[in-house]
Amino acid sequence: MTNMLFDALFAPLAGRDSPFLILGDGSSLSGDAFLRMVARQANALAGQGLAKGDRLAVQVAKSPGALALYGAAVALGAVFLPLNTAYTAAEVDYFLGNATPRLFVCDGDKAAALAPVADRNGARLLTLNADGTGDIADLAALAPDRITPAGCGADDLAAFLYTSGTTGRSKGAMLTQGNLLSNAGVLVREWRFTAKDVLLHALPIFHTHGLFVASNVSLLSGGAMIFLPGFDAAQVMALMPKATAMMGVPTFYTRLLDDPALTRAATAHMRVFISGSAPLLAETHDAWAARTGHRILERYGMTETNMNTSNPYDGERRAGTVGFPLPGVELRILTEGREAAPEEVGMIEVRGPNVFQGYWQMPDKTREELRPDGWFITGDLGKRDADGYVHIVGRAKDLVITGGYNVYPKEVELLLDEVPGVLESAVIGLPHPDFGEAVFAVLVPQKGAALDPQAVLAAIAGRLAKFKQPKGAVVVDSLPRNTMGKVQKNILRDTYRTRFSG
Ligand code: AMP
Repeated sequence: MTNMLFDALFAPLAGRDSPFLILGDGSSLSGDAFLRMVARQANALAGQGLAKGDRLAVQVAKSPGALALYGAAVALGAVFLPLNTAYTAAEVDYFLGNATPRLFVCDGDKAAALAPVADRNGARLLTLNADGTGDIADLAALAPDRITPAGCGADDLAAFLYTSGTTGRSKGAMLTQGNLLSNAGVLVREWRFTAKDVLLHALPIFHTHGLFVASNVSLLSGGAMIFLPGFDAAQVMALMPKATAMMGVPTFYTRLLDDPALTRAATAHMRVFISGSAPLLAETHDAWAARTGHRILERYGMTETNMNTSNPYDGERRAGTVGFPLPGVELRILTEGREAAPEEVGMIEVRGPNVFQGYWQMPDKTREELRPDGWFITGDLGKRDADGYVHIVGRAKDLVITGGYNVYPKEVELLLDEVPGVLESAVIGLPHPDFGEAVFAVLVPQKGAALDPQAVLAAIAGRLAKFKQPKGAVVVDSLPRNTMGKVQKNILRDTYRTRFSG
């Protein structure tokens, strides 16, 4: 029986004595040992009634065992549903109610709080702790270490990844084995991953970046991962000499730049640094190149589509852009029902084997965002420059409409960031009695700089049409970001909501 994803990602680990996962304490797990862990877990989960098509919800700390649960779900043809470890019991209640998983695995220390939630939603609760102990380990210890995977093809569901849902409820993006494998294959080729690569993996594995981009690429290429429970700049610097590649969110790069240990010599052996999930400031890109000699390779993707575009491996990696559509991925930018001209901003749509099947049990939402001919309306505004590089201008929901005019926050942010003393900025729209919305700037100073918000606004005034100029600004120490490094503009809008209308 063939199981497309299992055969490509996990089966090749059989008999591999070399390390697959290298852990923070210096210990490692061989490819074969990891595969046996996957098989034992799969047999254990099958013993608990998990079968093809059933959902397996998981909210556990990152560990080899947590990654093995993903492999076990793939082996059984079950739908893997990883949940952010920060979600509260009330939030988990929503996900279990929406996805109705047969089994739910959580950390032992949350079991008491989550037992009634699992119960209410008809899921059996099992535990897995960060140190590898728990119900899953106990059951797996008694289970055979070989598995015959369930037959699965390209159209079989492999995962539900819930969107982060900063507006409205999270939606479960249904991803098939074909979605995941096609994207992993393209990324391995585009980014030149081979069995010689050791990927520094400090991302969470409940999100597409750490789970699918990073782990699938490493598995498919036959490489190894330095698998860390989270991002710690000192630990990453200490382990970097053992790695050849790193994937991170922009905050990884800004934090590493703060570490004097980051030098050309310390990164001389690295093959590639990749960034995504949030915009990488051109300034960070340039600072990284100046310090290390490496140009960070920025790419763009999302929960619903895996990866869509990437800067070239060979050729110019252009700061502030996300490069070109990946092979097999079509990308168009529409404005007023037609394709936008170069430099013209519009809504980004993508189509290809990477695009998800729709939102689980939300046919209306699916119809709103996924066209019948396969184009997915991303919700991201962007443009192509004269050379075809795609630029992300921001989320459509962050667009500011002031006095009937559209203002793209990014355009204003780029100018603000150039003002001496400004490290970064976030431009938002706030309710305004005359204009509907007013443009407002939240500024973060460079280390040691004292910023006068009015002076910063005056510095850019001559370079922007009047309606685009912020009508107010504040200085803050840092911008609110989620675990993936995305600026949470909804929080800023809430914080300053009454600034013009209070
Ligand atoms: P998520 O579904 O959590 O992966 O979030 C996807 C969203 O992150 C995209 O729709 C973009 O708005 C944003 N995003 C991802 N990569 C980039 C990037 N390189 N530059 C700018 N925004 C990005």
